[in-house]
Amino acid sequence: MDFKLTEEQLMIQQAARDFAQNELLPEVIERDDAQRFPEEEVKKMGELGFLGMMVDSKYGGSGLDTLSYVLVMEELSKVDASCSVIVSVNNSLVCWGLETFGTEEQKQKYLTRLTTGESIGAFCLSEPEAGSDATSQKTTAIDKGDHYVLNGTKNWITNGSSADIYLVIAQTDIEKGHKGINALIVEKGAEGFEIGPKENKLGIRGSDTHSLIFNDVKVPKKNRIGEDGFGFKFAMKTLSGGRIGIAAQALGIAAGAYELALKYSKQRKAFGTEIANHQAIAFKLADMHTSIEAARMLVYKAAMDKDNHENYDLSGAMAKLYASKVAMDVAVEAVQIHGGNGFVKDYHVERLMRDAKITQIYEGTSEIQKIVISRSILRD
Ligand SMILES: Cc1cc2nc3c(=O)[nH]c(=O)nc-3n(C[C@H](O)[C@H](O)[C@H](O)COP(=O)(O)OP(=O)(O)OC[C@H]3O[C@@H](n4cnc5c(N)ncnc54)[C@H](O)[C@@H]3O)c2cc1C
Repeated sequence: MDFKLTEEQLMIQQAARDFAQNELLPEVIERDDAQRFPEEEVKKMGELGFLGMMVDSKYGGSGLDTLSYVLVMEELSKVDASCSVIVSVNNSLVCWGLETFGTEEQKQKYLTRLTTGESIGAFCLSEPEAGSDATSQKTTAIDKGDHYVLNGTKNWITNGSSADIYLVIAQTDIEKGHKGINALIVEKGAEGFEIGPKENKLGIRGSDTHSLIFNDVKVPKKNRIGEDGFGFKFAMKTLSGGRIGIAAQALGIAAGAYELALKYSKQRKAFGTEIANHQAIAFKLADMHTSIEAARMLVYKAAMDKDNHENYDLSGAMAKLYASKVAMDVAVEAVQIHGGNGFVKDYHVERLMRDAKITQIYEGTSEIQKIVISRSILRD
């Protein structure tokens, strides 16, 4: 394995680092406080090519590999995980799914807008009674010949109100179970499509999370992705790649918290010396650094598996499981190293600690990742 980054990857990493420091950092605390969506920042990320990173240039994408995407996710997440989840959903769950499984007409109509930031995408699978158990879809898409009629409620949708293009998973034929599920493209403004109130969240507060309500929404059949009944497979394949993005988000949160703690430990004095000189603090930093490096190896390996067209279900799940635990553990220790200052907003680590938690929950909880991993190793 060669983890040496290419010149191009190093440049992309630097561009993301500069953007995060110059454009995201200044108002990140205020956005978190006010639960304000980073509208201007998202526009700029579109201009930088961060919203359609792996999409072919003929659809306006940057045509880069997954590792470059991971590097960008890592740098953005060091500073603002609310921004990075917007990037992750748009890239991994919406653009990738459309480019891989959509028709040429769908790509021309939707993908070209999603890669530039003209539109933002949302991926709508979860429901009040279908989270980890995603097969229990209650939202229905009834086949009416040339269109479907969509009814139901989706929960927890990232980019819920800021998106314009929604990929909605719904049950068409209940008799066929998960083989009777479809994925449909729904546009904002469709008659009968309502956006519920914004969730008031613990972390990633700048990202807008909403429930969505569909009341007899007519969706043209040409907006179905793939063959009839492909929807569940579409969702699972898309989430498998999405996990690499969230693993990179977790890695970035951990690295961001560690960098702050390292710096603080060299400045803050107690008992006549910098706290880094107390072994209890130095050992914490050693553990944090080691676990972050281990997480980075897993995340980069999963990205490289995807780029090398190898199966990445297992490596992606392991990367997400491990990196999200590291994010949580490291962020808690970073707060500890900051003492009282860690408990207030100005020092950033309390936000990173709150943001870290979501990486163990969305795109498959840690328990679900263990199911994926154990099934895979027991099958082999
Ligand atoms: C901020 C945020 C953003 C989100 N964004 C999106 C989005 O854009 N699109 C989308 O579709 N969804 C989104 N989600 C939903 C998210 O993916 C689900 O919350 C997640 O999959 C868990 O589902 P649940 O909340 O229903 O929990 P449940 O499935 O009810 O799980 C509750 C607990 O039981 C455990 N559990 C469940 N089944 C098992 C099992 N078989 N074995 C062991 N343990 C189990 C879980 O791990 C968890 O600890 C988002 C959620 C949040 C909070």
